[in-house]
Amino acid sequence: MPPATKLRIRVDQKKCQGHNRCHQIAPSLFELDEFGNAHEIGDGRVPAAMEEKAWLAKANCPELAVDVIED
Ligand code: SF4
Repeated sequence: MPPATKLRIRVDQKKCQGHNRCHQIAPSLFELDEFGNAHEIGDGRVPAAMEEKAWLAKANCPELAVDVIED
């Protein structure tokens, strides 16, 4: 496994409307439930190589449901 960084993602379930953009941008960070709503995979930690994609997913979520947290 690549080394973990201090970035984490979190999907706000109250805001997510299932547009699926986050999953298309970063399928290794987001998974979709049976309703098409996105969830962070595991504890949401972002591998170093995926940091740019995490910010991109946040920027592309029309509902502002993706948080990128810097621990
Ligand atoms: S892009 Fe935003 S609204 Fe769409 S599935 Fe991802 S978190 Fe949910």
